[in-house]
Amino acid sequence: MQGYIINFNRAKDEDLIVTVLTKNNILTLYRFYGARHSHINLGYKIDFESKSSIKSNIPQLRDVLHLANKWNTEHDRMFIWQAFIKLIFLHLKDVDDIHDFYFNLLDNCSEKWHTQNPKRVAIEAYIKLLEYEGRLHDEFICFNCEMSIEENPALIRGFLPAHEKCVWSETFERLQIEELFQTKNSLFINDKDIARLWKIMMEGL
Ligand SMILES: [Zn+2]
Repeated sequence: MQGYIINFNRAKDEDLIVTVLTKNNILTLYRFYGARHSHINLGYKIDFESKSSIKSNIPQLRDVLHLANKWNTEHDRMFIWQAFIKLIFLHLKDVDDIHDFYFNLLDNCSEKWHTQNPKRVAIEAYIKLLEYEGRLHDEFICFNCEMSIEENPALIRGFLPAHEKCVWSETFERLQIEELFQTKNSLFINDKDIARLWKIMMEGL
């Protein structure tokens, strides 16, 4: 089976409780410490087996093979990837069975992660996620006062549009945000605004 490690916590000794996102499930697995085990890290894509065990009431994570991407060794890209993965974990925390949308989204991001500013890749993926979950507010109605936004919009958590004066936040170019929401393409948005969008995204998906 293949999946992404989206979280882990220390159990007793050096053992770990690992959360893995696969195509159709979010699995919580127990990994016994062992020197022969391959190193695992948050955000890694792995091939693995899940085995029931009498030693523990949650299945064991076994036969792990890291399906490495070339950018896994690039510190900055990996750091942003792990921040993105943490958001995904928090977002899906209480879900067991999921549609393969999320796994495929991570696969898709992972393939492009080294080709450009990874925050861009993450933001474009987030727009796809919002649309998939029916939460993409592309009608430019203010979250706060519920009136139409005719000028440049501000965006708050969840990329909800709002009037500048309603949320006291700096605005984005309207045409660029419209383009982003419609085409899921951030090509026209400069890196400074990408950094601002990333910051909003980090508040939670
Ligand atoms: Zn308003």
